[in-house]
Amino acid sequence: MRHSAIILLAAGLALAVLVVFGDLAVVRAVAAFICIGAAALVPWRLHDVAASRDEVRVANPVEAAAVAAVVAGMPDPAVLLDRAGRVLHLNAAAAQLAPALRKNELAQFALRSPEIITALREAIATSEIRRATYLDHVPVDRWMELTITPVPVPTLFGGSDKCMLMTFHDQTPLRRVEEMRADFVANASHELRTPLAALSGFIDTLQGPAKDDVKARERFLGIMHNQATRMARLIDDLLSLSRVELSAHVRPDTLVDLVPIIRQVADGLEPLARERQVTIDIELPDTPVSIAGDREELLRLFENLIENALKYGASGGKVVVSLSQALSGEGAPEVRVMVRDFGPGIAPEHLPRLTERFYRVDVGDSRAQGGTGLGLSLVKHILNRHRGRLLIESVPKQGATFTAAFPQVRPPEAT
Ligand code: ADP
Repeated sequence: MRHSAIILLAAGLALAVLVVFGDLAVVRAVAAFICIGAAALVPWRLHDVAASRDEVRVANPVEAAAVAAVVAGMPDPAVLLDRAGRVLHLNAAAAQLAPALRKNELAQFALRSPEIITALREAIATSEIRRATYLDHVPVDRWMELTITPVPVPTLFGGSDKCMLMTFHDQTPLRRVEEMRADFVANASHELRTPLAALSGFIDTLQGPAKDDVKARERFLGIMHNQATRMARLIDDLLSLSRVELSAHVRPDTLVDLVPIIRQVADGLEPLARERQVTIDIELPDTPVSIAGDREELLRLFENLIENALKYGASGGKVVVSLSQALSGEGAPEVRVMVRDFGPGIAPEHLPRLTERFYRVDVGDSRAQGGTGLGLSLVKHILNRHRGRLLIESVPKQGATFTAAFPQVRPPEAT
């Protein structure tokens, strides 16, 4: 506007001088002034209109706040860039993921992973969605999936430009579940295939070389019976595990007395204890001790713990099963059932992994004992469902203690 005024002033002065010296008629001078005025004013008028439109687009506070709020409200890390890759908005999750990201600075400088840079360059060049997966190492190793979505935005004079919306998603938990599933299927197939191979081997032998050997037949049939029992046990354990997992989120709400359950399990395992020459000492209160629980699952839980103590701790000659009430680390009242043996114990490096599926300290020993490697995993899942916890303590050569701790039921409030 200022420029137009200067042009008009200069033109006015020049025309006035010409009129005064008689070189130009007044009418012509006025006509010339109008033409110059129009030429000087119109472009600035257009510019002013355009500038005010631009202001509406860029500085409309409601619109700008809405864009920032959308980016901030996205649950995953999200960054909005302009077409050059400069950061317009970023949310807290993105700032945590890449602390070097700064508003109004190029994202390429803060995000150094080559996969991100390539995807960003391609998205800018092609205006198409680009995805990339990369391994982030800081603060811990994580598999991240990046999606860059070009978003068209209107420009001046009805044209269109684009921004880039970058979102990141942590794929690590999904990958871990996928790996666990694959491991589980591989382990379960392997565990089933071993007895199956033994069975078909003995069938071949009985049909061929040992066809008429009565003594060998008796021995082989005994082994085949053991292998078939092992397969049945493995399938039972797998089914129990999947049943408990399916109902993991539903906490049992029936009140059950632990005392008769523990007694029933110990009585049922008396023949095994006699066979292994182990005595079972039971230290239980005379009064009922109730928790919110599933009776069948609790039977499986104590069966696994006491059977393990009898199998792996037999050399100690004694297994003690006791029930006590105590406070947890957080001060919550708990009911604790302890199963203690005096056998060889477990080396400390194995303790954290004992509840993993198919984990055994000694695979040969476990198989010889008819184990499946699923017992303690089942125990952990049953305890999780009961909102309880498993404590494992062991001093090598002195035995092991497995403690199942359950939250105590609150007494009904006095009315
Ligand atoms: P398994 O079917 O092999 O018994 P578990 O999940 O019940 O599977 O136990 C996993 C492993 O933990 C066992 O193979 C054994 O090596 C070890 N273990 C369990 N209980 C005891 C114990 N009381 N003493 C020593 N080792 C034990």
